[in-house]
Amino acid sequence: MILDFHTHLLDVGHWPAEWWDHVARGWAAAEPGREPAQIRDKIEAGLIDPDGSRMIADMDAAGVDAAVVLPIDWGPDFHSAKNYDVVVDHAIECQHRYPGRLIAFGGIDPRRPGAPEKVDAWLRSGQVHGLKLYPNCGWMPAAPEAMAVYEVCQAHDAPILFHTGHPLPLLDESWSRLANFMPVVEAFPKLKAVLGHAGAPCEFENALNVAVRSEAATLELSVCLWDDHNEEAELALAKRVAKAIDVIGAERILFGTDHVSGKRVRGPGFLTTLVEKFQRMPEMARASGVTISDDAMERIMGLNGVSQLSRYKWRALKDGAVQG
Ligand SMILES: [Zn+2]
Repeated sequence: MILDFHTHLLDVGHWPAEWWDHVARGWAAAEPGREPAQIRDKIEAGLIDPDGSRMIADMDAAGVDAAVVLPIDWGPDFHSAKNYDVVVDHAIECQHRYPGRLIAFGGIDPRRPGAPEKVDAWLRSGQVHGLKLYPNCGWMPAAPEAMAVYEVCQAHDAPILFHTGHPLPLLDESWSRLANFMPVVEAFPKLKAVLGHAGAPCEFENALNVAVRSEAATLELSVCLWDDHNEEAELALAKRVAKAIDVIGAERILFGTDHVSGKRVRGPGFLTTLVEKFQRMPEMARASGVTISDDAMERIMGLNGVSQLSRYKWRALKDGAVQG
């Protein structure tokens, strides 16, 4: 059973004007004679996967049974053609189209008026199975309006995947530093706080320290490994994961890739390469002089994610590992 706990599946209008401007400026600056306007309106086509079929094809090729789809609300400071509710509805539609394969989360900026009520309605609907939150859009993880949202999620026993570590280049890095999450886990020790990217690239230790202070927080490993990482990087991550297993237990570590299924975002074979790299982590651990058992790795790759999603109605998957 392989469950990718961190993917993005986009349609037209999900990401804001500010992002397309940023990418177009970067493209134009890379070579003389280029103007941002030449490319600005063409970028989005490479990012989207409107019906989710590209995501499913990538998952099939990589042997990924199921994936959590994380909609992002960029918040009131950015301007997207579609509002967060429509973006989350798209994730739900894809979930319906591929039952048992795609698992919809909600995404909302806690500064939105009525955010806790909206999250409560999503979780009650049975269509939304957790929340993705992105502090780098401009809010502190321990802000009162965010705390109100955590309370709702904890009451529903629903996980919140927080972006931690370095954000997309347009955003301010300081909001998602791991120290900002300490007051969150102290106030909500039973909250299923999923520390997305485990603080990558620089704060793995700090992420682990936050998880230690919680009874339920998990480390989600996307971006800690990337498709072009060399063996040295794999050995280093294996060591860190082995330590995390010792400190918080294998059941609090989650496999994720940050895959985006548009045709021009990730390189060819991205998902397959990452699955292979993760699966050989026990070997890499041995080569580093530490231990990650096959059993621990199996949990990390999927079973832990299944227990995070306690309210999701699982269908039987092809290997019969999960039934619901
Ligand atoms: Zn992501």
